[in-house]
Amino acid sequence: MRPAFRLAALLSAAAMLLAPSASAGQPPSLDQALSLLGPDYAAAAGRTDIVFTRNLPYGVFGTYRPDFGVLLLFPIDDGCILASALAHELTHARRLPRGGWTEAPPPGMDADAYAEAALREEAVAHVVQIETAARLGCADRLPPGLAEIVRPVLAAGPGEARLRAWTESSPTAAGYRAGFRKRFAALHR
Ligand SMILES: [Zn+2]
Repeated sequence: MRPAFRLAALLSAAAMLLAPSASAGQPPSLDQALSLLGPDYAAAAGRTDIVFTRNLPYGVFGTYRPDFGVLLLFPIDDGCILASALAHELTHARRLPRGGWTEAPPPGMDADAYAEAALREEAVAHVVQIETAARLGCADRLPPGLAEIVRPVLAAGPGEARLRAWTESSPTAAGYRAGFRKRFAALHR
């Protein structure tokens, strides 16, 4: 994504945050979602700008931008699903320093290494999302791509085996890997 476009997306997200909100169908508040996650996440949330926005690709409930230290969250009308999406993105926020390697791969990191490292980062965050949803009781309501792999992921592991189970059973893992290769190419143009 080009910088101007990123800025436009962020401004649009900010405009939505400032717009008068509808009284019906209010999403659970950030505080409610964080209260389900516990103190470790509250500390990470305190270091991160969290913005609710509907301006995300279809089916995407959240995204974390280490280049801006901004976490965008779709206002899902389901506290458990919102909390599990927030846990996914805050996992990135806790692991990726501001301006971290996903935006600026270190010299010497080639496309293969970048794609595998970025895929592993997604494995960690998706496993956290599944574990959180299972703990809070909404694993069956997770979005497509996650709901159908809850059983094999939780049956494996914990730890490395569970990360491997996500990578091997997720219908979205191959798409992520291809996307990271494209992203590496774009970062090195
Ligand atoms: Zn992620």
